[in-house]
Amino acid sequence: MSEASVTSETRLERMEDLVSLCARRGFIFQSSEIYGGINGFWDYGPLGTELKNNLKSRWWQRVVRARPDVEGIDSAIIAHPRTWEASGHVEHFTDPMVDCRACKKRFRADQLADAGPCNSREGTSEHDLTDPRSFNLMLKTQIGASEEAASEAYLRAETCQPIFNDFKRVREAARQKIPFGIAQIGKAFRNEINPRNFTFRSREFEQAELEFFCHPSEREKWFEHWLEQRLAFHRELGFDDDHLQTRPHADDELAHYARAAVDVEYLFPFGWQEIEGVHDRGDWDLSRHSEYSGKDLGITDPETKEHYVPMVIETSVGVDRTCLALLVDAYREEALEGGDSRVVMRFHPSLAPIQAAVLPLSKKLAEPAHAVEAELRRELNVFYDDAGNIGRRYRRQDEAGTPFCVTIDFESGDDGKATIRDRDSMRQDRVPLEGVLAYLRDRVRGE
Ligand code: ATP
Repeated sequence: MSEASVTSETRLERMEDLVSLCARRGFIFQSSEIYGGINGFWDYGPLGTELKNNLKSRWWQRVVRARPDVEGIDSAIIAHPRTWEASGHVEHFTDPMVDCRACKKRFRADQLADAGPCNSREGTSEHDLTDPRSFNLMLKTQIGASEEAASEAYLRAETCQPIFNDFKRVREAARQKIPFGIAQIGKAFRNEINPRNFTFRSREFEQAELEFFCHPSEREKWFEHWLEQRLAFHRELGFDDDHLQTRPHADDELAHYARAAVDVEYLFPFGWQEIEGVHDRGDWDLSRHSEYSGKDLGITDPETKEHYVPMVIETSVGVDRTCLALLVDAYREEALEGGDSRVVMRFHPSLAPIQAAVLPLSKKLAEPAHAVEAELRRELNVFYDDAGNIGRRYRRQDEAGTPFCVTIDFESGDDGKATIRDRDSMRQDRVPLEGVLAYLRDRVRGE
């Protein structure tokens, strides 16, 4: 069947529309929903998990596997507590917090513009705020069998500190020389005062971080290199220049140890916001961990015999924030000829949670349809659906962001062909059954 063509399209304007689509279709929803949810924690359902995994493996491919000078690790979430003293987190990883004495709500003092009105005071909607106090964002836990003997530890607030702890071991084991990098993807935890904007600010989230170690004379060069690489990555995800920008930190915004920092920002419906940071951390981390551990983390150049502490260029991207940007970026509401409409998630085919749906026009066509499905499953993530009207099945796949639907009809038995329907153009191609996998492979891997 052919479909009506698109007459107009609009991008996502209200986050509520995305939040409800994500829950309904099983991309992302409240964690512990049956107990009323838990603020700042989210679960990824079948579609969201595939999308996130595709994003993480793309990052791993570009940052680790494609490079002889980067090694990957997977460290424990809980590090020795001294780690967080050395890194400065125990002392400095705080946000200024204020409370409203009337409505009892709690806000970040530097984000009061978003606080909304106070509904508990008479004659004014202004909050009655306390003075700001420092609130440490690290989540604490106890280690050890008995409560008395237990020691306090922290869930990591960023994935990079264990990389510094492991620096010497990894360099020696992998026989790397400066310059080289260590990367990892993993969970980080921050007790954010106001989790908000869906998954954008959560209390548990994933980071993909690279710490690149170089000689002090080369820090600018490597900073530029990695900033360029990371921008190319975001463009490859499909973000265009209208929705992607860089924002260098002003001098008074820089962390006390940082020489330079540039945020990569995406234009969300709630404004330009950081999805990644590229930072020149200098020798702060390795020097501090040398001092606190008593182990020299410096390097002696084998040729010049110079002993020095390497400088660190960091790229730190939020996996959940980038997933959210992918969801926002993909969302389109389209008006179709004849008054119909559809919601379509235009993920790049290589990132889409489902790459192909196999849709037999009748349950009687199960045999040839399952044969195609089995063939495609060898390489692609496939969804099989034989229930209901074909137009409705296409719409469901549009909302899931499936780039290709493979329809098996009664003619397939005669001419040995299937119809492949393209999500965005809704164009249909007749393709020989034995050529379906090759056709999809080209387009999914495509660009
Ligand atoms: P923000 O200023 O938004 O709190 P940040 O500057 O503290 O972020 P970094 O410490 O540089 O963030 O962390 C690197 C990346 O980790 C960020 O660019 C972001 O993508 C992600 N990230 C940080 N905090 C959160 C959070 N609470 N929820 C989801 N992702 C986060």
